Amino acid sequence: MGRFFSVIDKTQTPMGARLLKKWVLRPLRKLEPIQKRLEAVKELYENQELRKELYKILGEIGDLERLISRIAIRAHLPGTTGRANPRDMINLKESLKKIPKIKSLLANSKSDTLQKISKFLNPLTDVISLIELAIVDDPPATVADGGVIKDGYNAELDELRYITKSSKEFIANLQQKERERTGIPSLKIDYNSVFGYYIEVTKTHLDKVPPDYIRKQTLVNAERFITPELKEYEEKIFTAEEKISALEAELFNQVREKISEHTEAIQKNAQLIAMLDCFVSLAEVAVENNYTCPIVDDGDVIEIKDGRHPVVEKILPPGEKFVPNSVYLDNSENQILIITGPNMSGKSVFLRQVGLIVLLAQIGSFVPASYARVGIVDRIFTRVGASDNIAGGESTFLVEMHEMANILNNATPKSLILLDEVGRGTSTFDGISIAWAITEYIHENPKLRAKTIFATHYHELNELAELYPRIKNFKADVREVGDKVIFLHKIVPGYADHSYGIEVAKMAGLPKEVTERAKEILANLEQKELTPQGKVKKKISKEALMQKFQISLFELNDDRLRQEILNLDIDNMTPLQALLKLQELRGRIKNGEI
Ligand code: ADP
Ligand code: MG
Repeated sequence: MGRFFSVIDKTQTPMGARLLKKWVLRPLRKLEPIQKRLEAVKELYENQELRKELYKILGEIGDLERLISRIAIRAHLPGTTGRANPRDMINLKESLKKIPKIKSLLANSKSDTLQKISKFLNPLTDVISLIELAIVDDPPATVADGGVIKDGYNAELDELRYITKSSKEFIANLQQKERERTGIPSLKIDYNSVFGYYIEVTKTHLDKVPPDYIRKQTLVNAERFITPELKEYEEKIFTAEEKISALEAELFNQVREKISEHTEAIQKNAQLIAMLDCFVSLAEVAVENNYTCPIVDDGDVIEIKDGRHPVVEKILPPGEKFVPNSVYLDNSENQILIITGPNMSGKSVFLRQVGLIVLLAQIGSFVPASYARVGIVDRIFTRVGASDNIAGGESTFLVEMHEMANILNNATPKSLILLDEVGRGTSTFDGISIAWAITEYIHENPKLRAKTIFATHYHELNELAELYPRIKNFKADVREVGDKVIFLHKIVPGYADHSYGIEVAKMAGLPKEVTERAKEILANLEQKELTPQGKVKKKISKEALMQKFQISLFELNDDRLRQEILNLDIDNMTPLQALLKLQELRGRIKNGEI
């Protein structure tokens, strides 16, 4: 995913982001649903006001999926974590409150899908008003913190709260009442930690103490009493706090339970909003990045005009402009495109951009191109060779061949195969042979015959186009200016006649001795090479080709030289004999004998 996803992801909600990921991982293969998505994106693309408004509203909607999975109790949603906190409820309420606005914004959409979203979104006013009634607007982080349930929601809770809040007032009132009842003006009610609440009466008034007072303590000047009423109240206050927190927890769970009854509806809302979020995101991305609506059909043509790579076009160094490229693939004449060109000339970018454009079209997105017609593909197979993944070694090659086997065994004529430098993980001749044979197989096997782009720096593969009618040659164009190679990043018909490796090496600062020597070696190799470009008229059999590569003179000479050196009886040679032998070998190498 990575960078590509971040380019196309402008979703505003977490559920939207999750859904978009799913879309990218599982593109559609049926025409109708693709067209439905494209219609929705198109309407939002064209209607800027609507898009902007939705974009803003979506930004105010929480993660309904997560929220309900926390709030719902097990009976309604097995596997729930049950870790709802009061703020989840408020978040749920505030999110649901946006639904009527979304419904009305989409009610008159041209797009079926948008209309359906409007129709099926459920405002769930019951849930909103329940939360509104039960939960304070700005609750603490956990139920245990207290103060979660709104006043007026539950009479018992209200009373308990009244008790704790008004204890002072209550005591003052009681004191007044007792003074009046007993006629003792100095009677007072007080509190200490040993007795709790008590009534104190000075000695002078003891005769007026009513019979229901229970003596608790005698002081020098006064006596202290309690009454059943006072003790009852005291009990109430002492336990009120505890009761409040238990009751709040209970009420909170009751609210959860009631909301749980709407689990399905909330989940459905979440899906609809996620979908809408994806459409708005794709439309926004299309506008921002200048994408166009692709024509998607069941045909076998993939035609892209001025296509761009959605990520590379954004991350080019300042001053560099992305060079758009076109492509035309079908199953009759342009089935396999061989793209040659030196390193860094833009082959990989081109190949990937075709894949990404097809992928985008099949998730229902606009695409970075001025025009695109995409005949639906059943799968996009990609194999990126070892050169772009320089871990090296045999294991890499093995992995590469594993993947190649998978492609050759599973691709169909409806597939798109993207091969980037396949075969590079082994020696050149092995690599060319394998690449050649793979290409032939894709062309010839009627069960396979998939549209294929093969980027390779083996320009030898260009000969395939001479032999097979559905193979076409393209090259990443370069301009040679003096000693330098300028990459134009333009993919044009034709083939690269050499790989420019030496020029590139020179530009990179390799010592002149090395690059000059490399030129000599190259010339030497090319003389003894296979059939010269373009001269092949007869079809080369696979076997013949392999043989040609394997008995390459250069390799044979190399072996002969080794053998001669190995056969030398060094122990029985004088230094002079050794020197003479060395001179002889050098002479024969120079003459091309070995
Ligand atoms: P290759 O596969 O031929 O070695 P890449 O496709 O990896 O080359 O491209 C090498 C670099 O060239 C990219 O990283 C990018 O900076 C630049 N590049 C490639 N294609 C384009 C293009 N179409 N427009 C502009 N720059 C490009
Ligand atoms: Mg490459």
